Amino acid sequence: MTIVSVAAAAYIVAALLFVLALAGLSRHESAKAGNYYGIVGMAVALVATIVLAIDTDIETLGLVLLIVAMVIGAVIGLQLARTVEMTGMPELIALLHSFVGLAAVLVGWNGYLHVEADSGGLAALHLERLDMLGIHSAEVFIGVFIGAVTFTGSIVANLKLSAKMKSAPLVLPGKNFINLGALVLFIALTVWFVIDPQLWLLVVVTLLALALGWHLVASIGGGDMPVVVSMLNSYSGWAAAASGFLLDNNLLIIVGALVGSSGAYLSYIMCNAMNRSFISVIAGGFGIEAGPSEDTDYGEHRETNAEAVAELLGDAKSVIITPGYGMAVAQAQYGVAQLTQKLRDKGVEVRFGIHPVAGRLPGHMNVLLAEAKVPYDIVLELDEINDDFDETTVVLVIGANDTVNPAAAEDPSSPIAGMPVLTVWEAENVIIFKRSMASGYAGVQNPLFFRENSQMLCGDAKERVEDILRTL
Ligand code: NDP
Repeated sequence: MTIVSVAAAAYIVAALLFVLALAGLSRHESAKAGNYYGIVGMAVALVATIVLAIDTDIETLGLVLLIVAMVIGAVIGLQLARTVEMTGMPELIALLHSFVGLAAVLVGWNGYLHVEADSGGLAALHLERLDMLGIHSAEVFIGVFIGAVTFTGSIVANLKLSAKMKSAPLVLPGKNFINLGALVLFIALTVWFVIDPQLWLLVVVTLLALALGWHLVASIGGGDMPVVVSMLNSYSGWAAAASGFLLDNNLLIIVGALVGSSGAYLSYIMCNAMNRSFISVIAGGFGIEAGPSEDTDYGEHRETNAEAVAELLGDAKSVIITPGYGMAVAQAQYGVAQLTQKLRDKGVEVRFGIHPVAGRLPGHMNVLLAEAKVPYDIVLELDEINDDFDETTVVLVIGANDTVNPAAAEDPSSPIAGMPVLTVWEAENVIIFKRSMASGYAGVQNPLFFRENSQMLCGDAKERVEDILRTL
């Protein structure tokens, strides 16, 4: 048995492990096992790739570089994984997607330099003999394009998620034509490059794709960022698959296709859940125009204090808590769990209403509440609880904003119009925990704060919850 066939077998094993990893990650109970399958699959893939490289007479310097790169990558990866806050996960994931995109661009350029730019070279002559030079050129061009779009798109996503860039959508005049024009230009350039692979065409498509990736994601508003992250995940998969074709690496093609298709499907499911058009989101907010002016006057808001809220809660029959990103920032979940217990001991019915995109990653609130040992059976999804708000005495909105914004349901011109929201305003009393009157992640003002049955409890959510606990 040759080393090549052993490596091919190892690749099949790794591919199967990746399929098992995806299957495992689709359910809570099997998610941990899914992670382990992924880790083992990646280890098998890495070892097989190194063995293959050694077998193809890699130079000593190349081998040393490979090992040094792996050690540096592993150290950085381990350190990041250990220190990243849960609220920082999506921005880290976006950054990782940008690496996949950059790698695809480099692989594409490397492919060009080895083949098209070296027309008398062995690789070029070999492909020419097989009549495959055109296919190689198309792979280079498409790989560089997808990689560059993923690279800058992911960087913008990272900047938006880490609040280093405004989350509101960039609305350039004729933005849909810019995107469409870039796509048409790309197709035309691809045909040109396949016929006559010149360096300047590759430079142009790289710059075009970098600009397009930036513009596509910058044009999408904060409310749609969860879909953008899974869409970029999908793009990074296709970029990896394109690199797999260029490097003639079957495992990379399989893994790229798995990530690409599962990411696309996840984006589709998320779009359905958020009542968004899939095409509109992948086309950089196609059809979404600028929202209403942010200076709309909704009137005066009322403020309350912890003592008054404690009294209200003590007399309440039923309470629903709707947590959001602010609860994660304040790390208020432990206080919230104690408050829940205390109220339940007094005979008050307490439940949680969880919006599918509350926080900054899918399932964010569920993880925090589980961490604080809040019983699962009182944590309900949006669909399960939305009809119960009108029979509820008090709703505590703890650090949530976009996910409880009535504008989504009532104002068709709002950038988040149509997105399902928790209808907290139907309750008798709504108490909103936040530090200021600032808007939520989507950058949209929230009329909830100005409703007659709403009161603001200003300050850090953890401190305010502790104040209420003390009074109770
Ligand atoms: P938002 O991000 O809309 O609002 C969070 C609120 O928490 C802010 O209004 C902020 O107000 C408040 N806050 C922040 N820190 C504190 C603190 N220490 N104490 C009290 N309040 C605090 O939250 P939601 O969870 O309602 O919505 C999530 C948003 O994020 C949606 O737009 C969603 O699309 C987007 N998103 C979701 C992802 C996901 O997968 N779940 C991924 C990416 C984006 P203030 O500053 O005044 O205190």
